[in-house]
Amino acid sequence: MANEFNIDRNRLIETVKEQAAIGGTDGGGLHRLALSDEDKQVRDWFHEQMEAADLDVRIDEMGNMFGRRPGTDSDAAPVLLGSHLDSQPNGGIYDGALGVVGALEFVRTLDDQGIETKHPIEIVNWTNEEGSRFQPAMMASGVWAGVHDRDAMYAETDAEGNTLRAELERIGYRGSAPVGPQEEYEAYLELHVEQGPYLEEWGQSVGIVTDIVGFTWGELTFRGEPDHTGATPMHHRSDALVAAADVIVRLRRLAEDLGERTVATTGVVDATPNSINVIPGEVTFTWDARDPDDAVVEAAFQRVLAEAERAAEREGVDWEWEERMRAPSVKFADRCTETMADAAASLDYDYTDIVAGAGHDATHLAEVCDTGMVFAVSEGGKSHSEAEYTNWDDCYRAANVLANAALRVATGAA
Ligand SMILES: [Zn+2]
Repeated sequence: MANEFNIDRNRLIETVKEQAAIGGTDGGGLHRLALSDEDKQVRDWFHEQMEAADLDVRIDEMGNMFGRRPGTDSDAAPVLLGSHLDSQPNGGIYDGALGVVGALEFVRTLDDQGIETKHPIEIVNWTNEEGSRFQPAMMASGVWAGVHDRDAMYAETDAEGNTLRAELERIGYRGSAPVGPQEEYEAYLELHVEQGPYLEEWGQSVGIVTDIVGFTWGELTFRGEPDHTGATPMHHRSDALVAAADVIVRLRRLAEDLGERTVATTGVVDATPNSINVIPGEVTFTWDARDPDDAVVEAAFQRVLAEAERAAEREGVDWEWEERMRAPSVKFADRCTETMADAAASLDYDYTDIVAGAGHDATHLAEVCDTGMVFAVSEGGKSHSEAEYTNWDDCYRAANVLANAALRVATGAA
């Protein structure tokens, strides 16, 4: 089937480069932490681009930036598209930004071609997706969707003790619009780079995201006997770090046993007293286990506790645990995945279904309205680093899938 609707490839590329210059690093990456001076600059830039595209701009109380293009039917619900412009420390230039630029390019193309849509279009830059300077990640989309409390998030502080609210005010982006949907939304569509290796391994350019994995995060503590490493015979020891090491290795094995897509990691180990000649008396460490199937996540959680109990018994240490967070997996609306797949097929691109291993703003939006995501292949699967790379053809293809899917939804064709 012939397809008449194509975004402007060169303008997409130039706009990705323009934003990448704001907070750009010598290594070709991006350092644009949420609510930093660089974030203010890119917001000012995005504000200008939205006004130049004749969008009706509003900023909400969490600093989320929206630009609205009216529809022809005053009763029709808006279609929302976007992602985030903040980055990790020395992160990549595509993560988040490609999705915001892709949304902007969609409305620019509608204007070029004089296309009116039944549904209004809104494009959005969500505040603090990365969760690097202020936790949690996906913060302001979470407040918007009613998952997090606005005032609790205002009180979050960075490493210097600045509150999120004070930083929003400092850069002039604590807006006046109430945070949260003030009307029904037709759909939310987000373009993002994959940040994993699958599409490249499978030889695909575009991924239609069907699900986002669920996860369990928690912390285990073992308490043994701190003692002299030279004078204490081996059979007299209760070594908290040996018990912890046992669980950490088994965590990796259990991921291999449980499912093809299960991943499990210990990212933090805190040993006390952390001295070369003292047997570790107390060790606290984390688990992070993820899978698209919530039953597998629960199985992983139970296995972590069972392994910890066995390790504690073997080593003669006390133990305690706390699950800090449990996020169920997200299944995107069939309507959105089918429309994205249909768009990719009609454009004759190589595409496939994929499960997202990381959270995105779309995670929270799925609570509010029909939601879908499209991924662009990431070279080597690298992200949250200056080495993040997607070639321009693949950026263009994924952005064109977003645009064509959004056009179908906005005109009432899907
Ligand atoms: Zn991102």
